[in-house]
Amino acid sequence: MAYSKEIYEKALNIIKKRRLDAERTAEQHKRELSLKYPEFQFIETELAKTGYEIITAFSLPRNEAEKKLSKVRKKNGELRAERQKLLKALNLPEDYFEVKYTCQKCGDTGFFEERDDTAGVSYGTKLCSCHIELLKRLAAEQMSRSTPLELCGFEDFDLSYYSKSKKDGQSDYNVMKEVYNSCVQYAQNFDLDSMSLFFYGRTGLGKTHLSLSIANEAIKKGYNVIYGSVINFLNKIEKEKFGRAEDCDTENLLIDADLLILDDLGAEFTTALTTSVLYNIINSRICRGVPTIISSNLSLKEIKERYPESVASRIIGTFAIVKFAGDDIRQKMSS
Ligand SMILES: [Zn+2]
Repeated sequence: MAYSKEIYEKALNIIKKRRLDAERTAEQHKRELSLKYPEFQFIETELAKTGYEIITAFSLPRNEAEKKLSKVRKKNGELRAERQKLLKALNLPEDYFEVKYTCQKCGDTGFFEERDDTAGVSYGTKLCSCHIELLKRLAAEQMSRSTPLELCGFEDFDLSYYSKSKKDGQSDYNVMKEVYNSCVQYAQNFDLDSMSLFFYGRTGLGKTHLSLSIANEAIKKGYNVIYGSVINFLNKIEKEKFGRAEDCDTENLLIDADLLILDDLGAEFTTALTTSVLYNIINSRICRGVPTIISSNLSLKEIKERYPESVASRIIGTFAIVKFAGDDIRQKMSS
């Protein structure tokens, strides 16, 4: 997967900061205790000496080296045990002096050497999984930056804008109360196995608001969420396909996200390319078994008319369909 240069640099800076912070904390622990308790200072100095002795031992003849090494190792072990005892007496954890990296696998370098120790084979340096996760998260954040996510939470959703007068035995208010409650529940229970949702209904009924409220909750749970309008995504992908944008792979980022929210399906200008991209994104996510939320002003009938059978049947056949009811509440809010 290709990311922009900016994302790669940002990720490396974050990983570097993690490493420096972890090393600084361990150093600080050592310094503080050594100042307070000279015993620690003594042990640290002696430990440093054993390190030096181990290195010099290798220049000795084999017999002597082995003898010396076992002596030094013994001394090293005793010093560590002594340090442990002192830490315990102070009620501090055993690993108080150790560097606690965010990622143990790569020691916060972002890279690790993949090797098979039993066969003694190295497969070269690879991007660590912590690095890949970070790149994905940063790319998702950048991709979603244009949407004011912080403005949308369930607590700001006002049901009082929906009419309580009944049409066909149901009021808009009751329909939307049910929609609202199921969205809250969906967000609370959200995980990678959650189902995909298709929100439809006329413009201004709160589809974007509720889908972004779900996004907010999923992000809080640590999921990698991408949200944005279908038009913007398709424009970006089109530019990338024709080489007019920087080297970024939006299509695969969308396929890869834990939760993808596609807003306003149907507002885009339909071409053979946009249709095939949409199909690829929706279908690949279904194959991966990860949830997608699509919102649209189009009715199910209009979806069938507008898109080829392959796209329409993926949405109608595999998404949970949620119909939004009411009059445009945005007009009511501003009046
Ligand atoms: Zn790592």
